[in-house]
Amino acid sequence: MRELIDCHLHTEACGHASGTVAQMVSAAVFAGLTGIVMTEHLPLPADLDPGEYLSPKAEQFSRYAQEVRGMAERVKGVDVVLGAEADWLPWRMEDTDAQLLLAREAGVDIILGSVHSLDGWVFDDPTDTSEWDRRDVDAVWVQYFERWCDAAQSGHFDVMAHPDLPKKFGHRPSFDTAELFAGAAQAAADAGVLIEVSTAGLRKPVGELYPGPELLAAFRQAGVDITVGSDAHEPGDVGRDILVAYDAAAAAGYGRVAFPLGQGEVRWVEL
Ligand code: ZN
Ligand code: FE
Ligand code: FE
Repeated sequence: MRELIDCHLHTEACGHASGTVAQMVSAAVFAGLTGIVMTEHLPLPADLDPGEYLSPKAEQFSRYAQEVRGMAERVKGVDVVLGAEADWLPWRMEDTDAQLLLAREAGVDIILGSVHSLDGWVFDDPTDTSEWDRRDVDAVWVQYFERWCDAAQSGHFDVMAHPDLPKKFGHRPSFDTAELFAGAAQAAADAGVLIEVSTAGLRKPVGELYPGPELLAAFRQAGVDITVGSDAHEPGDVGRDILVAYDAAAAAGYGRVAFPLGQGEVRWVEL
């Protein structure tokens, strides 16, 4: 039997998820997982999270980190790693740096790098997708991957999360993406980051893993290693569809996925 891991999990601390740290860890044990990385969002500045539902406050994040560290010491049977999901905000580098500083101070071992917004537009926010109707979808994809490549190469992130997130609501580019994807894969290879195969897309309108088969094949071709995550925002989704991700990875030619432990160390899970 293949070892099951889940390297992308949230908690109620962020304001748009349910489940305490303890409940998420219990769900992992119940699902038979042998390793999890808790990856709560890092706090965003107030003007970028005016509804206070995108990210936790600094003190909530600190409490989360403390609870995860406690679980990592106490819980048997599942390895618990303290991680966080950071937003790449290149037009607000001081706020990107503030997230990373807070993560460092909290003793976070694994940082997921995510591009959720372009110059303040949170394009993956399900509560308001109207801006998509005003945008040129092709231009969004091109700009997104420019930002994504910069993030991958910034040296700040261990793992790049949900790499083709702009497809979330079904917005697909009209052009041939081969070159775009090859460029992203090369950027990841040069940077030495891991890529997350995320099962969250299966639960979204797009109904597909992030990355989709073409982009995953491009990563494989470039020799980029992968990890897996559900991006669960509730206990019931912990470990969800991880075997689907494993099968997609194997189909793309991967023989193993990484369970990241921090300080560049990984435990390999054979597929
Ligand atoms: Zn979230
Ligand atoms: Fe995310
Ligand atoms: Fe997430």
